[in-house]
Amino acid sequence: MITILKDYLNKHDLSHFDLKAVLFDMDGVLFDSMKWHAKSWKETMDDFNLASTTEEFYLYEGMVGRNTINHIMKRERGRDATDEEKEQMYKRKTELFVKYNDGSLIPYAYDFVKKVHNSGLKCVVVTGSGQPTLINKINDSFPELFDPKCMVTAFDVKHGKPHPEPYLMGLEKSGNLKPNQAIVIENAPRGVESAVAAGVFTVAINTGPIDDKVLWDAGANIVLPSMESLYNEWENLYNNIIAL
Ligand code: CA
Repeated sequence: MITILKDYLNKHDLSHFDLKAVLFDMDGVLFDSMKWHAKSWKETMDDFNLASTTEEFYLYEGMVGRNTINHIMKRERGRDATDEEKEQMYKRKTELFVKYNDGSLIPYAYDFVKKVHNSGLKCVVVTGSGQPTLINKINDSFPELFDPKCMVTAFDVKHGKPHPEPYLMGLEKSGNLKPNQAIVIENAPRGVESAVAAGVFTVAINTGPIDDKVLWDAGANIVLPSMESLYNEWENLYNNIIAL
């Protein structure tokens, strides 16, 4: 653990961490919702006669919906999707997601956030999601653990992940923090790329079906198999960070 932390500091020409906040991605980190997103995407593509696999949507996680649609359209039809197609398909995907999503949490997500909160760190959500009821959803499942004023959603940013803007804005909203004053918890390759591009130490938890290698290749500093393993590893990680 200590070597991984030192490697990060050396790479960024930093002498130490000054940890103040943990920035959490939402889908696949806090909520066990990626399986519903993937299922809804696959069924939408089926409805529009476009070939796809459920698994590939885990790779596009974090991408803006219309870009996912365009990517499939280009591959399957050799052309861009029209604005109307993007709108219709995204509407269909959203309907299906609302129907399937049961709001269940990733196992150990609540316990982990509570533990981080009890360590005296600010807990912040940085998501590409633009669901209108998102703040309520987070408050219902994680009462008083996240500060809604610091939250970054699809409504706040121009560029989605893998652009660094969401995580840079997360640092700013958390009190103009510098990259060495936070760590990021992500589950998706594009989210990891975004956090790494923002210069933040990034822990990936692999809660979906993709290969760990995809998360390492995206630049994750650590890849763990689950939120439970991060929960168990936290004291080791935190104590090493504050000792540096
Ligand atoms: Ca995610």
